[in-house]
Amino acid sequence: MNQPIKKIAVLTSGGDAPGMNAAIRAVVRACTYYRIDCVGVYRGYQGLIEGDFEQMSARHVSNVINRGGTILKSARSLEFKTKEGRVKAYENLKKEGVGALIIIGGDGTFTGGLKFIKEFDFPIVGIPGTIDNDIYGTDNTIGYDTALNTVVEVIDKIRDTASSHNRLFFIEVMGRDAGFIALNTGIGAGAEEILIPEENIGLEKLVDSLKKGREKGKTSSIVVVSEGDKIGKNVFELADYIGENYPDYDIRVSVLGHMQRGGSPSCYDRVLASRLGVAAVETLLDKKSGVMVGVTNNEVSKVGLENAIKMNHEINKELLKVAEITSI
Ligand code: ATP
Repeated sequence: MNQPIKKIAVLTSGGDAPGMNAAIRAVVRACTYYRIDCVGVYRGYQGLIEGDFEQMSARHVSNVINRGGTILKSARSLEFKTKEGRVKAYENLKKEGVGALIIIGGDGTFTGGLKFIKEFDFPIVGIPGTIDNDIYGTDNTIGYDTALNTVVEVIDKIRDTASSHNRLFFIEVMGRDAGFIALNTGIGAGAEEILIPEENIGLEKLVDSLKKGREKGKTSSIVVVSEGDKIGKNVFELADYIGENYPDYDIRVSVLGHMQRGGSPSCYDRVLASRLGVAAVETLLDKKSGVMVGVTNNEVSKVGLENAIKMNHEINKELLKVAEITSI
């Protein structure tokens, strides 16, 4: 990384997340501010392989800060997982005169980026953009806060029905490997129980807790379930099990699905994305590569991409206790 960088490329990859546009905007405008050219790459790594580039000026990113999804589109590229695919991507970047790359995505995106750095010694900085918050080295990933607000709003609506009909609702939220969304929305929406991948409370405790709730006069209940909860049953099987063993419960299941990814980003996500977009450009100008920028204790922080992928972003144990106490 000895030559000064004259052109930076930016792409979004993996699952889209609200706030990605705010991050793209910040990257483009930071490039303008520091008098560097910026190109947008469409459809993530697949666009790199196909040379799907567009020169981006500050005006290209007008009116996008409030939009969900990603104006650069995203894709899951199998070809980038092959050496031939990555060689094509490298050649396209060279042909375009690009000196560094900013990748916005999750751990898969960072894994691909790391390989690329090792193979071609090409400067790359990562920005964490995923609603799951499952990345080490930042307190929040871009999109997570918006997803929390979306989920809480929906659970509030479901609660209206649950309490009107004295029902027990199982609500499945996103999170195959991480329970951040379930734990925080469960507390925020006042759930009776929260099932997350990090902790297996077991069927017995779940049943016991629901029974106790009834005994204490609760007429309706909400159980928030992470996709990857460890009880060993999916949300429908859980509902069936409770229904078969406790026929007096009136049970419903709601799977929130992709709506959790959509919508206008929260102010928190817009500010986070703006900070990280600027930080990513400045990090490259500082001649640093192979790192992810994040925000830790409200300060911009950097962590090696390798650690961002491999190390575990632990859930806050205090929240488990808060959930238990406040659901009494
Ligand atoms: P999310 O957390 O939202 O799913 P992600 O970045 O983890 O986001 P992935 O689909 O896992 O999403 O990865 C995005 C892209 O990164 C893949 O489509 C692929 O092109 C590239 N990628 C993932 N793993 C590898 C790998 N082992 N080698 C090379 N490229 C990879």
